[in-house]
Amino acid sequence: MIYSNKFLNFLLGLLSVIVGIKIMYTKKMSQGNGGMGGGDIFLGNTAYIIGSIFILFGMLALYFNKKYQKDIAVKCPKCKETFNYKDTLNGKCPHCKDVDTIELKEYYDKFPDEKKE
Ligand SMILES: [Zn+2]
Repeated sequence: MIYSNKFLNFLLGLLSVIVGIKIMYTKKMSQGNGGMGGGDIFLGNTAYIIGSIFILFGMLALYFNKKYQKDIAVKCPKCKETFNYKDTLNGKCPHCKDVDTIELKEYYDKFPDEKKE
């Protein structure tokens, strides 16, 4: 599922790094979308500090996102087997081969009846 949390976290991390680089490069920070009270804040050399924080935050987000992906529990909708994501074949069930596994949380959102086991 491409719209799952891990994809969102990945985007957030990436965005943070890009914003950090942009701040360092332009030495200013955009505020809002040019509406009332909007405009750029000029940062001078502080840009390097703020930019570094954004980049560091983004890297951390990406790092933990990757770690989280490996440790996440997923379930196969066909054989009902639960795996660690790292034990799947790139997200596919190692038993059924061509069946995509689903994150446990998402799985039970989809099939709430199977929660009582
Ligand atoms: Zn399976």
